[in-house]
Amino acid sequence: MKAQDGMYIDGAWRPAAGSDLIDVVNPADGQVIASVPAGNAEDVDAAVRAARAALPGWAATPQAERAALVAALRDALVAHKDELADTITAELGAPLAFAKAVHVGGSTAVASSFAELAASYAFEERIGNSTVLLEPVGVVAAITPWNYPLYQIVAKVAPALAAGCTLVLKPAEDTPLTAQLFARAVHEAGIPAGVFNLVTGTGPVAGQALAAHEGVDLVSFTGSTAVGRKIGATAGAAVKRVALELGGKSANVVLPGADLAKAVATGVGHVMANTGQRCNALTRMLVHRDQYEEAVSLAAAAVAKYPSGDPRQDDTRLGPVVNAQQHERVLGYIARGIEEGARLVAGGPDAPHEQGYFVAPTVFADVTPDMAIAQEEIFGPVLSILSYEDEEEALRIANGTVYGLGGAVWAADEETAVAFARRMETGQVDINGGRYNVLAPFGGHKQSGVGRELGSHGLAEYLQTKSLQF
Ligand code: NAP
Ligand code: MG
Repeated sequence: MKAQDGMYIDGAWRPAAGSDLIDVVNPADGQVIASVPAGNAEDVDAAVRAARAALPGWAATPQAERAALVAALRDALVAHKDELADTITAELGAPLAFAKAVHVGGSTAVASSFAELAASYAFEERIGNSTVLLEPVGVVAAITPWNYPLYQIVAKVAPALAAGCTLVLKPAEDTPLTAQLFARAVHEAGIPAGVFNLVTGTGPVAGQALAAHEGVDLVSFTGSTAVGRKIGATAGAAVKRVALELGGKSANVVLPGADLAKAVATGVGHVMANTGQRCNALTRMLVHRDQYEEAVSLAAAAVAKYPSGDPRQDDTRLGPVVNAQQHERVLGYIARGIEEGARLVAGGPDAPHEQGYFVAPTVFADVTPDMAIAQEEIFGPVLSILSYEDEEEALRIANGTVYGLGGAVWAADEETAVAFARRMETGQVDINGGRYNVLAPFGGHKQSGVGRELGSHGLAEYLQTKSLQF
């Protein structure tokens, strides 16, 4: 695609206020593929003003019309699915088949779910002698990360539109091209001018200005806990609503009696998907000590099925990580695991390719709960396997981090798995390999965040109540 050299504000591409640019790099070879404008506070201000001006009209648009426009947006994304997948592969490094099926397919499925919800959602309820109106919160600041560049945008914009909110999006600086294609789809769908606005730029400049802008009513952020904390503080000081989708260190608990081979193979696949760059990745596998060595060998064998390489090649299942900084960070954690005495059973610090930000799929055994690789979010293709003696210890380890986003339990039967899942301090748990559900609320306990995305719970984040008494 050809990059836009402006910002999408008030229904058109407009020149940026400043002249700074952001280079977009292909992480598979380190080459600059495009550049986009780096927005500043002036661009943010223009975008927020446009969103404010469009708010009364959009909030008053009949529900059926808003729903039809969300469906039209989904259709515009589907119409450009190949270009979207190519762009995600180019700027993120996701293998092309994965970009098509998961990045684009998952995003359009989420857009569809909100088109349906927009049409069917009850924006009014009766409680005793009151009618409760569920009204749009107002102008939304959406700040998104690079790991699922399209999905993270759709998971905020589609419910916000369905709710009657208007928005300003500040996407990650690493993946702005996908965001520009999304803005083009909004335009093609015929969504009225000013309802959706895009400002590309860096977090500390454009992101900060947007989160702090007094014309914003809700900040919806996905990214690191460190930045989330800052945004929460800024929003709190201004008494603004905030939704934070932060990091994770999710546990995959394999209880005695489970199908060990299936649990390990599925668990490894979960960690390697998107090169481990997922906030809910099941990066800690917990196995009973009697089955521990068997699980370790199964995991070491399973990673061999994730060859890394050129994301455009059909047989590549593991792309590079997104940028030089993440590459250094992930390699730093691998070095730390070795230093702290974990046993490296696959992968490691050696570069699998001469160029690009590649990390070998890595498995550590003999990981203890206090090690950095068992506590901190690595955001790369690195699995830690821990052992436990009984269910109580497994639960203590599973709950023993500051995070609580995802999780999985494998057991001989669903009842046992569900009983364990009820005691886990986390927002989602997959039971015996349960599949992802676009309608299930997604979000964190503890420091994994505040608020929920997806489905009717996700839509509710963009609404506020007004009670009329009769
Ligand atoms: P990040 O810094 O938290 O970035 C997320 C978004 O926030 C980006 O759009 C970023 O802009 C913006 N941002 C950064 N500083 C900001 C500020 N002061 N005010 C407002 N917005 C700001 O995450 P990252 O640097 O991309 O990745 C670092 C780590 O975050 C990863 O290793 C991983 O642990 C975690 N992470 C989690 C998720 C998740 O889904 N939970 C996703 C991605 C990353 P820029 O892109 O310009 O920095
Ligand atoms: Mg960043």
